[in-house]
Amino acid sequence: MKAKEQMNLVATVAAGLEAVTAKEVRALGIDCQVENGKVLFQGDSKTIMTTNLWLRSADRIKIIVGEFQAKTFEELFQGVFALDWASYLPLGAKFPIAKAKSVKSKLHNEPSIQAISKKAVVKKLQAHYHRPEGVPLQEIGAEYKIEVHLLKDKVTVLLDTTGSSLFKRGYREEKGLAPIKENMAAAIMLLSNWYPDKPLIDPTCGSGTFCIEAAMIAKNIAPGLSRSFAFEAWDWMDEQVFEQLKDEARKAIKDLPLDILGSDIDARMVELAKRNATVAGVADVITFKQMRLQDLKTDKINGVIVSNPPYGERLLDDKSIDILYNEMGQTFAPLTTWSKFILTSDEGFEAKYGTKADKKRKLYNGTLKVDLYQYFGERVRRHTI
Ligand code: SAH
Repeated sequence: MKAKEQMNLVATVAAGLEAVTAKEVRALGIDCQVENGKVLFQGDSKTIMTTNLWLRSADRIKIIVGEFQAKTFEELFQGVFALDWASYLPLGAKFPIAKAKSVKSKLHNEPSIQAISKKAVVKKLQAHYHRPEGVPLQEIGAEYKIEVHLLKDKVTVLLDTTGSSLFKRGYREEKGLAPIKENMAAAIMLLSNWYPDKPLIDPTCGSGTFCIEAAMIAKNIAPGLSRSFAFEAWDWMDEQVFEQLKDEARKAIKDLPLDILGSDIDARMVELAKRNATVAGVADVITFKQMRLQDLKTDKINGVIVSNPPYGERLLDDKSIDILYNEMGQTFAPLTTWSKFILTSDEGFEAKYGTKADKKRKLYNGTLKVDLYQYFGERVRRHTI
């Protein structure tokens, strides 16, 4: 089995955030390369555990089982058959071809790609485990989800180690109206200029995602510590190694003072944010309160504002959005030394807000194209003593 061998691994990530994930991977001491929506690296079963446990901005960690060219179903069958399935899948494993995807390729009928690939894996396992060909394999054990992607006739066969996406940390009640995904919120905090010694305010905090992710980053709480992963059921994943990694992660949690405020006009959201923060273990370092963003004032020297205000497709009608963004601009204008990071899909945001962003970054919130408008605070002159 594969446990100690080096495998080709990929962290999938929302387009636009690859560099953030790559930086996280490198911070774990793992060399990596970036492609569109992907960060590629190598590692053994422990690497799979570590990256699932620690990566904040990625979606999933997958094993690249193999890659080959195929323009016919025969080539697809032979290519899948040739892969080393027995070192991943024990006898009894469930192995759905959970996803087939074809882009710019001769083979494009996705159900057929799935069926042929399944047949090839079955045949390989029957041969390896000396099972008669006519009798179907029993799939009663742990699940190993296989994906087959074709791009310009190149087939990539993957095994998903994560299970439900990494954005699910396990702390959020699914009740917020239009919450940002946890991995996107974490990524935005990681690419912002916020550091734990600076005040942070999210004046449209909703379910509290930005504040909670920021606090988890500051306290060094591993994002995967409170959830489970598909690989945990796999027989070649050493449970004790994973327990040890989680133990180390628990010990690595830092206690430190933080100045994080989340506010929202909707009192129910504030309550929800508080509950989520409690489950995430960061309620003691975040203040949540009910407040209109128009009432935001601060005399702190500098800090970071992060906001994911309502936008047209989601929560408010156009007129109210125009007014809200305009008032936002007026409210934030006096805070010249504060940096602001505002995420919205409204392409007219800057005009309504009243100031052009220093930098804009295109991102995707699910399938919705959004922009992160970044305004950097003026440098604060330090007084000499
Ligand atoms: N990022 C949040 C979602 C934000 S949705 C999350 O992850 O859950 C936008 C939020 O802005 C909503 O919760 C809404 O109640 C709030 N909101 C709308 N108008 C507001 C205003 N004038 N002042 C403060 N909050 C407002």
